[in-house]
Amino acid sequence: MNPLLTIAAESKSIEELCERLGQLLRLGGPIPQAAMHRMLADTEYLQRVLQNRADLQALRQVLADPSNDAFLPPEAEVGSAELLGRVAQAFMGWARTGFKSADAATIERRLAACRSCDQYGPPPAGALYRLAAVLGERSMVCAKCGCFADRKVRLPHEACPLRHPDRPAENRWGEPFRE
Ligand code: SF4
Repeated sequence: MNPLLTIAAESKSIEELCERLGQLLRLGGPIPQAAMHRMLADTEYLQRVLQNRADLQALRQVLADPSNDAFLPPEAEVGSAELLGRVAQAFMGWARTGFKSADAATIERRLAACRSCDQYGPPPAGALYRLAAVLGERSMVCAKCGCFADRKVRLPHEACPLRHPDRPAENRWGEPFRE
């Protein structure tokens, strides 16, 4: 089994998940929680982590990026079983794809659908504003799922949550609809 799948499936807490990811990356300690949450939300950041795997000093710098703090969940969610479940699921979904990005044609098609969708818009005020500041201009949000749409379209295992208005077997990205 892919070691990341094992780690995501077996970890009983976010702390254990970070500890085991740190061991996998040979850090000598856990990866910071902020870095772990950013890896799940920001594909370009994850690529930076993976590219620096062989250079421990560079890797530590990437993982200690102060911008990562913006990706920490609200305090009420920290330590919750729901948060662990979401994180583990996201890791497993992406690990199954080998942490690859979707291909350029898929990203373009999905993005075009999002940009013409009534759910696509700027992030609401509140917790998301910090993330929007970090992600810069590409910070439009899908109001249906709360994800940063411009990032989500790059993840091969992700899916649009709404049915296509004319083709109910498909989602608005033109891909098979998943319940
Ligand atoms: S993911 Fe789907 S529902 Fe969300 S903005 Fe894109 S097309 Fe609309």
